[in-house]
Amino acid sequence: AKDAGRGCFAYFSEDLTIAARERIALETRLRRAIEQQDLCIFFQPQVDIAGGRIVGAEVLVRWQDPVDGLIPPLRFIPIAEETGLILEIGEWVLRETCRQGRQWLDAGLPPLTLAVNVSPYQFRRGDICALVTTVLAETGFPPTLLELEITESGLMENQENATAILNSLREQGVRFAIDDFGTGYSSLAYLKHFPLDVLKIDKSFIDDIPFHQDDMEIAATIVAMGHILGFKVLAEGVETAAQLAFLQEKGCDMYQGYIKSKPLVASEFAELLRHQQHA
Ligand code: C2E
Ligand code: CA
Ligand code: CA
Ligand code: CA
Repeated sequence: AKDAGRGCFAYFSEDLTIAARERIALETRLRRAIEQQDLCIFFQPQVDIAGGRIVGAEVLVRWQDPVDGLIPPLRFIPIAEETGLILEIGEWVLRETCRQGRQWLDAGLPPLTLAVNVSPYQFRRGDICALVTTVLAETGFPPTLLELEITESGLMENQENATAILNSLREQGVRFAIDDFGTGYSSLAYLKHFPLDVLKIDKSFIDDIPFHQDDMEIAATIVAMGHILGFKVLAEGVETAAQLAFLQEKGCDMYQGYIKSKPLVASEFAELLRHQQHA
């Protein structure tokens, strides 16, 4: 039995070593991917529920690996956050977004809000204010068309810092959305203290509409509460007509989800917009 135990232990530690090696390998590859510009951004339409028109897009990063193909963000963002590489990725995504947004405006596409995800790490460690100001100036993208998505935990971890960052960027016209709303800290009191524009209802509350009464009540409550606090409310991950009808009935302002479109590459997204313009 002792031997078996030792065998198990040896096997287990070897396993850990493999996992650790894989992580380091992934980190090295990710570093190279950033240098070689193997990252790309996709755009998922954000739709005005009442009018049915696209009013913006969420920008989602992917890693286009020459060997492994398209790698989703959940496979590399956590590692990027642990290693600090998220600062470089976040800067690249922001610059690429503003550059593309400026190009679309110059091409005559209607002005749209582009929403960029900002990791709590960037809030904590990066000089996000200076970065955003610089990139906006560099690219000529209008600040009023840029929205930054932050999570509840991102705000709560850096309360004082966060308020200063939000105030300073909002003076320039930049908007702020709370991402994955309802999944983080349960205290709602903090919402009053931050200058925010949009609440994004997390997909987990949308998934089981119209089958789970609890989720329907939570979603409806978030819409009502968001409006009382003066925010727009956007529902994430809307996949079915029943979900959309429910959200419309509850007065939710906007949605994004597969029912309208998956995240698209820039050219596909522009095509969808041109189509809408002429419809
Ligand atoms: P998120 O910010 O909550 O983004 C929404 C995710 O839901 C996206 O996954 C999107 O493709 C997916 N989604 C949207 N509509 C639907 C739907 O109707 N059904 C289903 N099943 N899924 C839907 P994605 O692109 O894989 O991104 C995952 C997460 O990675 C994001 O979650 C965000 O937290 C993070 N992420 C993505 N891009 C960036 C980035 O540039 N910077 C940072 N810091 N994080 C990012
Ligand atoms: Ca997001
Ligand atoms: Ca989200
Ligand atoms: Ca999420």
